[in-house]
Amino acid sequence: MTESTRDPNNEFNSTKYDIPPELQANVSVTTLDKIYNWGRRSSIWPMMFGLACCAIEMICTAASRYDFSRFGMEVMRPSPRQADLMIVSGTVTKKMIPQIVRLYNQMPEPKYVLAMGACASGGGPFKDGYNVVSGVDKYIPVDVYVPGCPPTPQALLHGLISLQRKIDTQHWRDTRWYSKDPIPEIPIPVLGPDIFDPRQSEEIKTLTHQKPVSEETVQQPTEA
Ligand code: SF4
Repeated sequence: MTESTRDPNNEFNSTKYDIPPELQANVSVTTLDKIYNWGRRSSIWPMMFGLACCAIEMICTAASRYDFSRFGMEVMRPSPRQADLMIVSGTVTKKMIPQIVRLYNQMPEPKYVLAMGACASGGGPFKDGYNVVSGVDKYIPVDVYVPGCPPTPQALLHGLISLQRKIDTQHWRDTRWYSKDPIPEIPIPVLGPDIFDPRQSEEIKTLTHQKPVSEETVQQPTEA
């Protein structure tokens, strides 16, 4: 990086201390937030799972041409307990969302979610399908949305850089994972009562407010 392209706000030595030029290669004076965030942003381990066609682009981003190990991300974890980032890459079906929420709950803090593509962000081309959730953010908090159908590897890389920028702004004092209050788990949605077709919400509302039909009013078939 040349002097002219350097972002002074992103420098490691961003404090007001003047370090003599002969020591600058060996000594860094920085803030606790900066070094803490720098460590986390440079070693985000994604969870190894994909849901549909977007997952192919995610796999491509991990391969040698785009190579997200430049972000310290090459260690994709098959276990949610060792993952920092959930990349929701593909169509989220109503059958799958309980599993996605369960995996999210099993990830340790600090954890992040990236919604990759139109399907994960809002249902995409299958939004009107009876079996598709119109956006994973209806159930779990999303940090970064990457548009596209599918997003290119470059777009995913941009999303990952955006996540790094978000991490850069966090302060360890305010982070929820150091709070004394326990972090509540997200209730696992149940296929049926919790997950319904939003187009039928009026009909469902009417039906749930209807009084049950009593046995007396049910017409009994007359015998011939
Ligand atoms: S956004 Fe497009 S490419 Fe991605 S899972 Fe949906 S249909 Fe497939």
